[in-house]
Amino acid sequence: MTAPVVVIGGGFIGLCSALQMQRRGLAVMLVDPGDPERAASFGNAGQFAVGEVVPLSGPDTPARVPRWLMDPLGPLAIRWRYLPRLAPWLIRLLRAGRMDRVEAISAAMVSLNDRIHLDYQPLLEAAGAGALVQPGPHLRLYPSRKEFEAEGWRWQMRVKAGLNFELLDRDALHALEPTLGDGIKFAVASADRSSVIEPVALMRALEACFRGGGGTVVAGTVTAFTHDGPTVSGVALEGGRVLPASRIVIAAGAWSHRLAKLLGDRLPLESERGYHVVLSDPRVMPRHAMSHTERGFAVLPMGDRLRLAGTVELASLDAPPNWDRARKLIEGARELFPGINTGGATFWMGHRPGLPDSLPVIDRATQAPNVIYAFGHGHMGLSWGATTGRLVADLATDTASNLDLTPFRATRFQGPVWA
Ligand SMILES: Cc1cc2nc3c(=O)[nH]c(=O)nc-3n(C[C@H](O)[C@H](O)[C@H](O)COP(=O)(O)OP(=O)(O)OC[C@H]3O[C@@H](n4cnc5c(N)ncnc54)[C@H](O)[C@@H]3O)c2cc1C
Repeated sequence: MTAPVVVIGGGFIGLCSALQMQRRGLAVMLVDPGDPERAASFGNAGQFAVGEVVPLSGPDTPARVPRWLMDPLGPLAIRWRYLPRLAPWLIRLLRAGRMDRVEAISAAMVSLNDRIHLDYQPLLEAAGAGALVQPGPHLRLYPSRKEFEAEGWRWQMRVKAGLNFELLDRDALHALEPTLGDGIKFAVASADRSSVIEPVALMRALEACFRGGGGTVVAGTVTAFTHDGPTVSGVALEGGRVLPASRIVIAAGAWSHRLAKLLGDRLPLESERGYHVVLSDPRVMPRHAMSHTERGFAVLPMGDRLRLAGTVELASLDAPPNWDRARKLIEGARELFPGINTGGATFWMGHRPGLPDSLPVIDRATQAPNVIYAFGHGHMGLSWGATTGRLVADLATDTASNLDLTPFRATRFQGPVWA
């Protein structure tokens, strides 16, 4: 009997890859430690973020970062002890911010974004999960028009990508969102988005669909690979159990580089740690998902609860959470909604798998052609899950893909950091 394809990681990338391969007739086994809260997929902002076509780093990043770091409510924090280990990633991040690179990266982001709804639709249908995804405008909030205009090139890039949006002055915005406080006087409404009303419910529905289609889920942590001559023949789990594999997909989110290193590939993957706060009795409920651009967090109605999610903290995979970052989200929400009740809030921290150019790796391992990499989706891993899964299925079945995979190659980080 042929061994199955083993997918490592049960976040959105692993789940969607498993499902897409199953739909092509492959036998698939998924391995994950089984603690959903460990996955970035559990706690994210739930956005199918069609209009996010601007990478993290741009030509103005060196000027913006010091201001962000000095602002206690700012969108970025760095644990300074971690700086020496982080430095090569930061250098690559700054290099990715040259305008010619930003344009190429944005084009690759658009190529994935164009497929978000198309590729999710069959998975949502098969999983009976269509009702978990609700279309609706997303509001990007600014204190005033001045801050919107200061984002000039970013909006030009979104216009170039064909994003549909409407500018809202104070009166139009407050008519749409009457519970907003007076500190916000301008917003942009983007029509193309959808919101997942509870990401973990979507994870569960996709997993149930995978099991229902004959897929196997194994609780475990992969610690090593087994080899049969030059071929990787299986994975070894903590505790010693070995699972034979015909092919392997590494979709282990922010932990993936540790597995790729075992196969001889060094990839500059960092955890861009993000936080969320869930308010179970917020007493104000905005009508739309929205994000506070300057503070770097989103406010998300999820059923009768409100989730505040976002910010980036660079502090390593293993450092304990700094719950002050989550408390800052509460302060930010109080600024936005003076009537909000933040009592009984619950906190969560998760690891966005971040590569410095804001694009994932979707490629074969350089020295093990039956191993496929699918990681590094940064701020967009929910949005790009179904499409990544389809591209993984193309690679696993040796099918030509309808997307250019060049921007997602694993080899793009070879060579010196400065080059
Ligand atoms: C606050 C926040 C808000 C966000 N908002 C959005 C949003 O609105 N829209 C969007 O598109 N994206 C968003 N993201 C990003 C998105 O959540 C991530 O990009 C995405 O979840 C990554 O999915 P993944 O499957 O690669 O990784 P994960 O979801 O982290 O899953 C990886 C899994 O692999 C497992 N694993 C690790 N090592 C091993 C091993 N050795 N063996 C077996 N299993 C292993 C882990 O336990 C985990 O379960 C947000 C992220 C955060 C933190």
